[in-house]
Amino acid sequence: MVIDLDTCTGCQACTTACSMENNTLPGESWQDVLFYNEGEYPSGQMKWLPRPCMQCEDPSCVHVCPTRATYKDEDAGGIVFVDWNKCIGCKYCMIACPYGVRFYADEQPLVEPDIRDVFPGENGQLWSPPYQNPESDWRRGIGVQPKGVVSKCTFCYHKVSKAPEGVADLDEDDPELVEYVPACVRTCPPKARFFGDLDNPESNVNRLIADKKGQRLLDHTGNRPQVYYLGAGAGIPAFRPRES
Ligand code: SF4
Ligand code: SF4
Repeated sequence: MVIDLDTCTGCQACTTACSMENNTLPGESWQDVLFYNEGEYPSGQMKWLPRPCMQCEDPSCVHVCPTRATYKDEDAGGIVFVDWNKCIGCKYCMIACPYGVRFYADEQPLVEPDIRDVFPGENGQLWSPPYQNPESDWRRGIGVQPKGVVSKCTFCYHKVSKAPEGVADLDEDDPELVEYVPACVRTCPPKARFFGDLDNPESNVNRLIADKKGQRLLDHTGNRPQVYYLGAGAGIPAFRPRES
């Protein structure tokens, strides 16, 4: 995935679309937009950074999971999943992830009333939202979450996995592909997000990374994210020089 920070307006449509697509609880933002201030009055600026799971090439969350519930599926393009049948909710992965993109489903609610009491869960589900995406695959952390597990972004695997074979880029402007594009990419009003095959040198995402000097967040951790950021418009906090 590629996110162009020069184009992103911080509107959070991606956050909303992700929540609807993946039945996430309020306060559980698999795709968040982080806001922060830079500089001081009168020249201070508000900036922002969209932040999905980085689907790391060498994910620290996988290394620490004692039950192997968290795993990297190379057959699924290297997406990192949580198998809800195996997760014991120990939260090791949440501590290990340098990007803060994992969520424990049973946390105290941030707002009242607790939506889980308003729409009580059925069949082991943590809650039963009025609208539910019919897709469900607990081995990949897709569907309405059960109690006591950790959840995370799946790059909308339930959509992208149905795309025709060998497509270099899932372009939301292509009528034949639009249904397979991740919800955050599909909905982004200024088209700041792109989704394609990083292993294919001909893909648009690879061209964008090369042409606009794509950068990875917190690259010094060695996790080697598969999300690249472009542009200097919003800046990347991790790349700010240290203050002396
Ligand atoms: S961003 Fe965090 S949760 Fe996602 S793969 Fe990397 S270490 Fe794991
Ligand atoms: S919370 Fe679940 S996925 Fe995370 S380390 Fe523990 S068992 Fe593994």
